[in-house]
Amino acid sequence: MTCIFCHIIEHRLPAEILYEDKEITVFKDVNPAAPVHLLIVPKKHIDSLNALKEKDADLVKKMVLVAKMMAEKQGIQNGYRLMINNGREAGQVVYHLHMHLLGGWGK
Ligand code: AMP
Ligand code: ZN
Repeated sequence: MTCIFCHIIEHRLPAEILYEDKEITVFKDVNPAAPVHLLIVPKKHIDSLNALKEKDADLVKKMVLVAKMMAEKQGIQNGYRLMINNGREAGQVVYHLHMHLLGGWGK
């Protein structure tokens, strides 16, 4: 199975990676829907929120905390949105769990 986000995480596909630690990679969305549009992505491949297991739930907590830190780093802490699309009807196109960080409208 090929997954573009796994490829980015493994540095086998180029992306503007802004942050990385043991569990999470953050990179710029290639087709930004806001002045600041980052994707907060767990390194572990999980298809979607529907596929999330109880044992991996701490990853979502970590994603939210990394999103908050990235909002501060980007200087958008006064206004940002976090979004997870789950399923085709909600517009999910990449089936590797990720959270969108959107903001920067006031910049
Ligand atoms: P979603 O609709 O939640 O599945 O979001 C997928 C997002 O990934 C979209 O906003 C795309 O613009 C973005 N995207 C797809 N391919 C890449 C890529 N190679 N590098 C960065 N962002 C990407
Ligand atoms: Zn993946």
